[in-house]
Amino acid sequence: MVDLKGQYQKIKTEVDAGIQEVINNTAFINGPAVKEFQADLEAYLGVKHVIPCANGTDALQIAMMALGLKPGDEVITASFTYVATAEVIGLLGLTPVLVDVYPDTFCIDVKAMEKAITPKTKAIVPVHLFGQCADMEAIMQVAKKHNLAVIEDVAQAIGADYTFANGTKVKAGTVGTIGCTSFFPSKNLGCYGDGGAIYTNDEELAKKCKMIAHHGQSVQYVHDVLGVNSRLDTLQAAILKVKLKRLDEYAAARNRAAAHYDKAFAGHAKIKTPFRSKSSTHVFHQYTLQLTGIDRNKLREFLASKDIPSMIYYPIPLHMQKAYASPLYKEGDFPVTEKLCASVLSLPMHTELDEQTLSYISTSVLEFCK
Ligand SMILES: *Cc1c(COP(=O)(O)O)cnc(C)c1O
Repeated sequence: MVDLKGQYQKIKTEVDAGIQEVINNTAFINGPAVKEFQADLEAYLGVKHVIPCANGTDALQIAMMALGLKPGDEVITASFTYVATAEVIGLLGLTPVLVDVYPDTFCIDVKAMEKAITPKTKAIVPVHLFGQCADMEAIMQVAKKHNLAVIEDVAQAIGADYTFANGTKVKAGTVGTIGCTSFFPSKNLGCYGDGGAIYTNDEELAKKCKMIAHHGQSVQYVHDVLGVNSRLDTLQAAILKVKLKRLDEYAAARNRAAAHYDKAFAGHAKIKTPFRSKSSTHVFHQYTLQLTGIDRNKLREFLASKDIPSMIYYPIPLHMQKAYASPLYKEGDFPVTEKLCASVLSLPMHTELDEQTLSYISTSVLEFCK
């Protein structure tokens, strides 16, 4: 699904030098590269504070802890997402309240979200799924009206631009109260292991996140709040510094691949290509088709026989997972999510796809879907 080796070959000299420098300095924990990457990312995103941490799941957990959410508080998120989003809500003893998504963007349905608000609701976690922003302007209006925090899950959409109705353009993750991202290797800005970050323009919140990520420590050996141990490795920061400079170029390469697929499948009766939101650019973390009247598993087998990988993100909706079973919902409650789980298929999407490979993939899909 990705070609991290091909991507590495093009930046090898710079990456290797960065790694070697960290080893030469043996500053493995909180070395200079971590601060440098933090500053680079703040500048790139146009956000006041970036707090690097160990992974995207931790970023979400630290954000929720910093917001002071307490057991029993309800947190609303989308039923069509990666499990990490709901997992941390549950782990902190908060109540995950799932709602359906829009059939076009696959992001949280704002009307359904507002309907799910109760006096116990404290936060909303919109997920910018597959590389495109949720309807942030509408989400922020609802959040303001009900005095709720908004935690953007930007794990799949780092670098995407969100445009408000008045034309103001900002980076995904900088609209809400706090943004959380992941540098998992296959993410759009991926390191060579685990990594994550939190972003916010709120000075107090930034301080709290930083403290919580470092054992709740304000000054060395002084612990003001309950914290966790969540750091971005210096080695990973050195790699991320090199890759951040290329993030826009990488997004452009992903968009070129998406344009190829779009053109190949345009007007096909059984294949629906990804929708493009007017308010967000798409950074194509995934290129996801919706199929009708096609045996999805047979298509996957056919593609696999031609050495073409494909994936189903996500095959089982959260509300139908054993771990998230709740009297709040049952099968049939989120028809859009359930339909998507039954019909989506993601094709290879990364920065190293050339025209020949793209043609081979799209021709093969079309051969099966005649
Ligand atoms: C990857 C991902 C996460 C978690 O990130 P990790 O770094 O793997 O912990 C959270 N939310 C979404 C939507 C993701 O895709």
